[in-house]
Amino acid sequence: MAVSRIALRGKTDMKAIVVHENGGPEKLSFEDIEQPEVGTDDVLVKVEVAGVNFIDTYHRSGIAGYGLELPFVPGNEGAGVVESTGPDVDGFKSGDRVAWAMSLGSYSEYAAVPSSKLVVLPSGVSTTQGAAVMLQGMTAHYLASSTFPLQSNHTCVIHAGAGGVGLLLTQLAKRRGAAVITTVGTEAKAELSRNAGSDHVILYRDQDFKQEVMRITDDEGVEVVYDSVAKETAMNSLACLKRRGTLVLFGNASGHAPAIDPLYLSQNGSLYVTRPTLADHMYSRQDLEWRAGDLFRMLGEGDLDLRMEHEFQLADAAEAHRQLEGRLTTGKVLLNV
Ligand code: NDP
Repeated sequence: MAVSRIALRGKTDMKAIVVHENGGPEKLSFEDIEQPEVGTDDVLVKVEVAGVNFIDTYHRSGIAGYGLELPFVPGNEGAGVVESTGPDVDGFKSGDRVAWAMSLGSYSEYAAVPSSKLVVLPSGVSTTQGAAVMLQGMTAHYLASSTFPLQSNHTCVIHAGAGGVGLLLTQLAKRRGAAVITTVGTEAKAELSRNAGSDHVILYRDQDFKQEVMRITDDEGVEVVYDSVAKETAMNSLACLKRRGTLVLFGNASGHAPAIDPLYLSQNGSLYVTRPTLADHMYSRQDLEWRAGDLFRMLGEGDLDLRMEHEFQLADAAEAHRQLEGRLTTGKVLLNV
């Protein structure tokens, strides 16, 4: 992943959040810094809205596997207006409304974004919607259509069903005709998850979700579990699978998953485990345009419900992280820049 290049001395001409050392939300420092350098293939975007994602908390805290060179401007998703373009950029011009995912530096008034990560927003999609749908939406898209292409004869389990990815993945899974079982932390989240289309909601802090999944499926188990909680859930997620079922580990909200012995997979039904990333599913321009295009079309047609009730000012990024990590948010968390 590209680390944003920031200059901490000299002309200070924009506000941004900067992480100088890893740690808690208090390490998100609101500062004046120089605008980022713009590479030959980069587009300088005047950011209007930055998306907050769980991966931003991993980068800030520096958990194993997510450490970045310090200091850095966090934020992997945003939307705004093109200010200028590098000499090798094709397809974008000053004034275009654009959005992106998986390029660092969106918690900032300006971001230099590689043109390969950027898409133009169609007229039916607002800038705020663009910032809200790119990262979690494309993740839900690849999980449901590429990692384990859901069909109408499948049942899936989606953990953290009222979260940003969870609400979108539930909707996309239902569109593909699958039966959906979600897990959530509270009754209020259960209501949101049901409204997104979940057929069965399990309060996994109060109930043993494995037992509940087995009860709901008449002891059959499910074809696939989408598990972004990991440490607290992964082994029980495996136990929810049918013979030859798939565990998709795609996040670490509760910490890294334990190591899984291949022999365990063979002795428990020839199971599959995969650990995908969005970066590998939007690597080609074709993949990026396919996934973003599908999401924009659904949004434009009013066919995708984007829940965006948690909006903060850029200066309050630390509070946004506190609430996201404290399991207090549902759907998308945004920073207005
Ligand atoms: P969410 O909005 O889903 O927030 C995380 C949710 O996880 C919480 O609301 C909470 O829901 C649940 N959770 C369970 N245990 C914990 C815990 N110990 N601490 C905090 N939260 C916990 O975040 P996102 O939608 O941004 O991301 C969801 C997951 O997907 C993350 O793990 C993220 O890393 C991953 N992800 C992976 C991508 C990939 O390509 N691999 C891309 C995008 C996201 P509840 O209260 O209901 O339990």
